[in-house]
Amino acid sequence: MSDPYEHIRQNLEIKEVARRYGLEVNRHHKSLCPWHTDSHPSLSFKNNRCHCFACGAGGSSIDLVAKLFDLEPLEAVKKISADFGLNLDFKGEYRPDTVKIQEMERQRQLQKAFDDWCDRTYSDHAQLARFYWKNILKYKPVSEMVEFHPRYVKAIHQWETVNYLLDTLLKGTHEEKIELYKNLNSLEVWAS
Ligand SMILES: [Zn+2]
Repeated sequence: MSDPYEHIRQNLEIKEVARRYGLEVNRHHKSLCPWHTDSHPSLSFKNNRCHCFACGAGGSSIDLVAKLFDLEPLEAVKKISADFGLNLDFKGEYRPDTVKIQEMERQRQLQKAFDDWCDRTYSDHAQLARFYWKNILKYKPVSEMVEFHPRYVKAIHQWETVNYLLDTLLKGTHEEKIELYKNLNSLEVWAS
């Protein structure tokens, strides 16, 4: 008999598991998320895994059952095996997949930290955009003949960059956001 973890991941449909344990999976393949207090279905099912777009949690059907019933992964595997009549062999040679579980948890935390960074950066730069916009209006030259106010010049100069940054954070792909993360310091958008 193969590794029971692998057997469950490969042979059981996660939506079926979710429904069996009381989660209502709607026609958009979403349900309420058990990892956070969810009032609107945020847990999405895809490729036999689940992922919550609100809190970032998710995983395999084993992770889901472990969460729903507050079980260790091995206990969750045993519960699924019993409830779905899989008769999996737990005496055979296999290693509980703790390395993979830890790696997934690490990935989840990284994702959370990155999402938080995106939120913070967005709100800081939205504020900056408002500041520059105010300066554009306030210091707008009344005629071509006068020297432009340095704050006006600066605001005009930075306007496009700040808006590019906000656009990327709002609508960019994950890769574009990562690029932004790497290059943020070189953009020098802050008011001096
Ligand atoms: Zn969630």
